[in-house]
This record gives sequence, structure tokens and C-alpha cells, in this order.
Amino acid sequence: MEMPTGKILIVDDDKLIMNLLSGMLDEDYDVICADNSLEGLRLARQEQIDLVLLDINMPIFDGQKLCQTLKGDPETKDIPIIFITALVSAEDETKGLEAGAADYIAKPINKSVVLARVKIQIEAKQQREYLEKLSTTDPLTGVPNRRCFDETLEREWRRCQRSEKPLSLLVLDIDCFKLYNDCYGHLAGDSCLIKVAQLLTGALSRGGDLLARIGGEEFVALLPDTPFESLDVVADRFRTTIEEAAIPHERSPISEVVTISVGGSTLIPNQKVEPVELHRRADEQLYVAKEKGRNHYSLGVG
Ligand code: GH3
Ligand code: MG
Ligand code: MG
Repeated sequence: MEMPTGKILIVDDDKLIMNLLSGMLDEDYDVICADNSLEGLRLARQEQIDLVLLDINMPIFDGQKLCQTLKGDPETKDIPIIFITALVSAEDETKGLEAGAADYIAKPINKSVVLARVKIQIEAKQQREYLEKLSTTDPLTGVPNRRCFDETLEREWRRCQRSEKPLSLLVLDIDCFKLYNDCYGHLAGDSCLIKVAQLLTGALSRGGDLLARIGGEEFVALLPDTPFESLDVVADRFRTTIEEAAIPHERSPISEVVTISVGGSTLIPNQKVEPVELHRRADEQLYVAKEKGRNHYSLGVG
């Protein structure tokens, strides 16, 4: 049997319609139900939902309002919504589409229409997610890329600004990597980059941390809510992780194995500075770490 390919939330106060829809869909999809908008909202926020089937007419908190609420929340705005409705006026249909609905299914409900319309929305969402993933992933190493880092930096900057929490950034650069390529060849260089990306990702300590490859042999670790006092522990963990992996680098004047240098900085985001300033300061410290003789870290507080 094929596994369900998406999770669908049905929100309808009419149990008959809810059971009817659920019965049509639960062979192909993972289906959950709510008989009121508040419960629907709670489930949409809590579960990984791929599609909402939403009744327009419900008491108090109606479908249109729930649709607007979901579309107004960054966490749920990308979930497509199909309205289930007996209303046929062009005005209502327009209102629904303007509230962010992806489509309509008219009552009386027909199984093949429901399955076809649902399939279109689920596939479109999966396609969007695939493209999003592709455009934010580095193809060589599989870790997040520069674009993902830029977007995440903007987002975490705003979040830490609101909560007045420190945002820390480490810039990590492989030492003498040109010599590595010269010695072992470009393909071996690529394998080394993949290995380093995996090791650095594995050395991250918290769920909210991001490790990205932003250039040739340069990586960043973005660490939200991380104060400057904790940064040296993290920086040194990255440095020792790579050193202890003992990837041979016989041409390196620094060590017999591949090493990295790490620069870092911390800022409590505010309106007077741009996010790029955090990156600039971490880069400055990377330069200091290289000057110290490489396989070092250097940190500066703003
Ligand atoms: P430093 O210690 O000062 O960082 O010296 P370095 O040799 O690491 O730095 P430099 O910037 O001079 O050279 C970086 C090298 O990284 C040059 C380039 O050939 C290599 N490189 C960049 N991207 C890739 C890649 O995708 N694959 C491989 N194999 N090598 C890459
Ligand atoms: Mg380098
Ligand atoms: Mg470099």
C-alpha cells in the first residue's frame, strides 16, 4: 500500500460533511478534523498540515476569518486552503479568494471533484517546497547555502531585536585549502568540503542554530540567543571537531591534518546597525585568527 502523501485538516461544524470528506480522502492522505475554527486554528499551528478544507459557514468564528488568520501568520501562511461551500455568489467567491483561499469545492460534494482539486493543491505545495529547498541548499555539501543564510540572518536579526537577545555569528574558513587541492586534486577537495560540512553541522548545539556554506571553503554558524560569553566554547568546539577528525593534509604548513580558523562576533540587534555589520565584524576576527597562525579562533564584541 502506498503511504499517504500529505496531511489534510478538515474544519467543518457539520459532522456529516466532515465524515463524508474524511471518508473520501483518508485512503490517500493523513486526515485530521476539527468541528470549530478555534480547534482548527490550534491544529493548523501545531501539526504539519499540507492542506486545509474549510467550511465557510460556521458560528462565531467563521471560515473566512480563520482563513485570514492562517494567511496572516508566517507559520501557517503557506498552507493552501480550499473552501467547502454551498454559497454560490460571485461576491462570496471573490471574498474567499481575496482572503487567501486557493480554491473552492461546491456542495453537494462529489468524490472525484474533491480528490482532483485536493491533488492539485497538495502537489503544488510539494513542488513549491521542493523548489524552496533546492534554492536554499548548497548542491555540493547539502547544507544550507548563502541565500538561506542571508534570509535567516534577516529573520533572526528581527527576532532578536524584538526580544533584545544577543545574536552571534561565527565565520569558519579551512586553512590552506588551496594547497589541499594542489596536493590531492579538486575532487578530493570537494570530498573534504563535504566531510567538513557534515562535521560542522554535527557540532551545532541547538535546534535554532544554522550552519551554512557561503563560499568556496568558507562556512558560517548563526547562533541566535547566544551571548558573547558562550561564544568561545562554541568556536573552539568547531575548531577541535575539525582537527580531531584528522583528515590528512600533508602540504599544510600548520598541521598534518585539515584545520579551520574561526572568527566570531556578537551583537544585540538594534535599528542603528544593519545585519551585515555582524558579518563584517566576524570576518574581521577571522582575519585576526588567520594572523595568529591559523587553526585558531578570535572573537570580538561590538
Ligand atoms: P587560508 O588559510 O588563508 O584560508 O588559505 P586558503 O588556501 O584556504 O585560501 P584561498 O582563499 O587562497 O584559497 C581557497 C581555495 O579554496 C581556492 C579554491 O581552489 C578552493 N575552493 C573553493 N571552492 C572550492 C570547491 O568548491 N571545491 C574545491 N575542491 N576547492 C574549492
Ligand atoms: Mg581558507
Ligand atoms: Mg577563503
